Order: sequence, then C-alpha cells, then structure tokens
Amino acid sequence: MLPDEKEQRTTPLLDAEEKKVTRPQFIKEAAGVAGGMAIEWNKEADVVVVGSGFAGMAAAVEAADGGASVIVLEMGDHAGGHSILSGGNCQFAGTHVQRAQGIEDKSDWLYEDQMLAGETCLWLEKLGVKWGRMQLQAGCRVPRSHRPGPSPDYAGGLPDSGGISIWMVLARAAEDRKVPILLKHKMTRLLRPDPKGPVIGVEVESEGKTLNIKANKTVILGTGGFMANTQMCMAWDPRLGPDLGASGLPYADTPGIGHNAAVDVGAGLTDMSFVCYLPIKWGSKVNQWWEPPTLKVVPKAGTGVSIEDFRRVILVKTDGKRYINESLVLEKTAAPAYPQAKWGNKDYTANIFTETFLNLKERPRNVWAVTDAEGARALKWPVDQMAKPDPKVFPALYPDFVAVAQTLQELATKMGVDPANFEATVAHYNGFVTAGKDEDFAKPGPLSALSRPPFYGAKLAMLRHSQACGLRANTKGQVLERSDQYAGKGVSIDQEKVIPHLYAAGECVGGYFGNYHMHGKIGHYMTWGRVAGKNAAAEKSWV
Ligand SMILES: Cc1cc2nc3c(=O)[nH]c(=O)nc-3n(C[C@H](O)[C@H](O)[C@H](O)COP(=O)(O)OP(=O)(O)OC[C@H]3O[C@@H](n4cnc5c(N)ncnc54)[C@H](O)[C@@H]3O)c2cc1C
Repeated sequence: MLPDEKEQRTTPLLDAEEKKVTRPQFIKEAAGVAGGMAIEWNKEADVVVVGSGFAGMAAAVEAADGGASVIVLEMGDHAGGHSILSGGNCQFAGTHVQRAQGIEDKSDWLYEDQMLAGETCLWLEKLGVKWGRMQLQAGCRVPRSHRPGPSPDYAGGLPDSGGISIWMVLARAAEDRKVPILLKHKMTRLLRPDPKGPVIGVEVESEGKTLNIKANKTVILGTGGFMANTQMCMAWDPRLGPDLGASGLPYADTPGIGHNAAVDVGAGLTDMSFVCYLPIKWGSKVNQWWEPPTLKVVPKAGTGVSIEDFRRVILVKTDGKRYINESLVLEKTAAPAYPQAKWGNKDYTANIFTETFLNLKERPRNVWAVTDAEGARALKWPVDQMAKPDPKVFPALYPDFVAVAQTLQELATKMGVDPANFEATVAHYNGFVTAGKDEDFAKPGPLSALSRPPFYGAKLAMLRHSQACGLRANTKGQVLERSDQYAGKGVSIDQEKVIPHLYAAGECVGGYFGNYHMHGKIGHYMTWGRVAGKNAAAEKSWV
C-alpha cells in the first residue's frame, strides 16, 4: 500500500519506512582506504540512490532485485521529481503493445530515428503499468509513444493517467523490495576522500542536520536536470536568465546539485550546448498544474491560455511595439523526415521565434500577446478567469501574467508597456488589417483588427524545460573520470576511466540523444536507471 492510501498520513507523498531507517544506527569506522579520513556514518546501504524520479526509482528496483540493500535519498518533501509531473510518454520500439495496436516498429528504426532502444516497456508492464493508446510524437516515423492508460490499480484509481501512474508503479515495486525513500534528505556532497579511489558515500543535509550515508557498493545519481538553477543555465547560455521560468516549479526543484557534486569529485560534462528545450506558455508561468499535489491528483499540462491562430493577436514588448511576425511561434523546427509527427525541436537555436525572443535586448524580457473581445472569443480564452486569475485553479493563470482592460491605455499600464507607443502600434496594425497586408513583418492574413473592448493581454513565459546535457557516463552507467580527457586518446567511452563506485542515470546524464530534444525520453531514462541499478548491485563492496 502506498502511503497516500493510508488514512493517518499527514505528508502528501512517500516517506515510506522513514521511521524505521532514520533510527540512529551510528556506524563508526575509519573509511580505511580513503586517505585515512575518519567518517562517522549515520546510515548505510549497498547502493545509495540519490533522487526519486524515474531514473532513481528504476535503478533502486533493479539494484534491490540484484540482491543489494538500497536507500533512496530525496531532497524534496515529496518524492517523484519531474517524473511524477510528466505526461508519461515513453518511446519504446517494436513492443508487444505496438503489435497489439497494429503498429510495425523496430529497435533499429528507433535507433535510426533517435539513437536508443529498450525492453523496459515489458518490465514496467510486469510491475503493473497498463499501457493505453499509442501516440505519434516528434521525430518518430510511427506511433511509438507509450503512455499509461488509467487503471484502478494506481493508488485506488485515478481519473486520468500520466507519469504519475508509472511513478506509482515504481514506488510500489520499491516498497515491495523494502527500499525506503528518505524525504528531506538533500545530498550536498559525494564522499571520495581519495581522489583516485572510490566514491564511498554521500553527505546529506536533513532538517538542519548533516548526515553521512555510507554506500558499501555504489552511489547512483538520479538527480534530474538543472533547469531551475538559473546561474548554471546561464553559464552555458547567458540568455537563459531569471526572466525565464523553469518547468517543474513550484512542485519539483532541479538545482543541479548532482551535477556539481559529481564535477567536484572529478566527473566531466557533455552536450552542454543544448541547455534545454524551451516551450512557451501564455498567461501562466508554470508548465503543469497539480493542486493539491498528492497522489490522488494527476498533474495537468495545458496551463495558461492557448493561441492557435496568431492572426488574432499582436505581440508587443516593453516599448509598446511589435517585433516579429507572430505566426512564427508555430514554426517549430519540424523533424524533416517525418512530417506526420506534428512538431519537433531539434535545436532551439534553429527556432527563429525562440532565438528572436532570447536575443531581445530588454531585461526583463516582457512580451505580451494582445487581443480584443472578439479575438478572445475566437481563441476561446477563459475571460472570466483572466479577470480573476488564480494560479491554484486550472489553467493556473498568474495575476502578473494576464491583463484585462476597457481601454488600450489602461491595458498598456497593466502590462508594463509604453502606453502611447502601444496605442500607436494598435492603430498602425489595424491599418494593415484594413489594407490586407502586414507591411512591417509580413504576417500572413487574413488578419483581425483589435478594436472591441475589453482588451486582453497574456504574457509570454519561456520555460527552461527538459535537458539532454549533463554528466558523462559509459554504457554501464558509470560516471567517467574527467582527468582521462587530458590524455586525449580518442577512445570509446567504454575505454575511458571511470570514477569507481559512482553511477548516474536519467536527465542528469548527457549524451544519450545528442543535440536533440526528444519527447518520450523517460522510457530511456528508466532503461538507463535499470542498467545502472543492475551493474551497481553487482559491484564488489569497497569496504
Ligand atoms: C510537466 C512536465 C511534463 C513532462 N512530460 C514528459 C513526457 O511526457 N515525456 C518525457 O519523456 N518527458 C517529459 N518530461 C520530462 C521528464 O519528466 C523528465 O525528463 C524526467 O522525469 C527526468 O527523470 P529523472 O528521474 O532523471 O529526474 P527527476 O524526475 O527530475 O527526479 C530527480 C529527483 O532527484 C531529486 N534530487 C535532485 N537533487 C537532489 C539531491 N542533491 N539530493 C536528493 N535528491 C535530489 C529531485 O528532488 C527529484 O525528485 C516532462 C517534464 C515536465 C516538468
């Protein structure tokens, strides 16, 4: 039984078995191997997994099945990370689920399309996932996005499904294998006292205390991305500043501690030029809504107001002026080989709209989509909610991200744009509508005038979303030693030196997909979590 199903629970998500495991079990011993440094251990396990998302949980289940004792550390006050918020789309190829739905697919095709494969589909089904209808997604020649269907088996039945369903199945599998998830246990440091020796444990901050947790065999990092760490994102692309949002917030933080801790003990990074995929929201600064955030509620995508027809809006920035052909928002970098997949985003620097926004000189960047009463009706904007925005109510509109006014001047003031220029911009644009031609930016028509009050504004939020960059790991999931790059040998990753007893899987690892935003990569993250978990359990103890 998952904790949320227990009536006496006070915390919203897993803190399974916490009491049992946090009972002081001081293990005093010198770390022996490690530079003679004495460490007072507060807990121990064969395999210490850091992070309770898909990668961490899959690693934990496989490591437990490999006979290891396992602890999962989670810095949050609930478990699941971005994984629990995700849509739950997993790309697997040539599976029994596809065959049952009449879809021919092959691992080779998946490899060709996106460079990886897995039998994790069946593994998840055996653990309890019920697959729903296949979906066609970016960069795929056939429908291969496996999404869980609703099932009464997930924590007493959910009205819908998504990543949360897969995560619950993994959480239950971990619980069955007596793997505890210790909430509010933030790993702050990897312990590698001998710079040439193994990683022997982690330092953890928990409710004001510092603990040392010993990993007899291995530490596995499943700490997710670093998109919420603005400084770290800006280190790789200075345009990804604090005026952008980050997916996962406010429910799951991604501070990049795992990356930095690994770099501190000698790990290298890869694919950092593709910092993150950058989706856009209007009127909301969150990518998902999950209220209240418990296992009984499925997180929803589709926050903010939608704009399917950019002939109904103009985009203005702080100076009150247009700056682009608004329709370019819809011009994603489609995966060219497979036009049947409706969108793709191979490289954000190839997306004109994204690039133009990132390159705006003003800080903070302040871009609003504006329409009138007629446009709001045509676009099906939730005008009542826009008048009383409440982030706690779906679609999570934020008061500083929507504006409604009877006059253009008042709207401009609410949006923080220059009122005189804004009025002039609207008059100028309405002239193009009458003339039938956008002389400034050549937006294809027919265009609609902005003339009927009330007027509406929805602010653009660009979000640092999923990442394909991060730690370098080999095909066993072992984290690679950066110093080996000094030799400049040009060998394959499996011939490079590893940091002994340190593994990583999931979004904290780079190099799985190259410079490519692949939707549905969580299937691979679980596969890599399993690979890491299996190999970690088979390691010889360093003790
Ligand atoms: C709204 C939304 C929808 C998405 N939909 C999809 C989708 O349909 N398909 C898809 O492929 N991808 C999707 N993604 C992306 C996907 O969710 C992530 O790529 C994936 O879940 C990452 O899994 P992970 O296990 O590597 O990391 P996470 O799930 O982020 O888990 C990492 C965990 O580690 C914990 N942690 C981090 N640092 C520490 C530390 N120092 N100490 C202890 N714990 C720590 C975090 O709190 C977190 O719980 C979506 C993302 C979002 C936000």
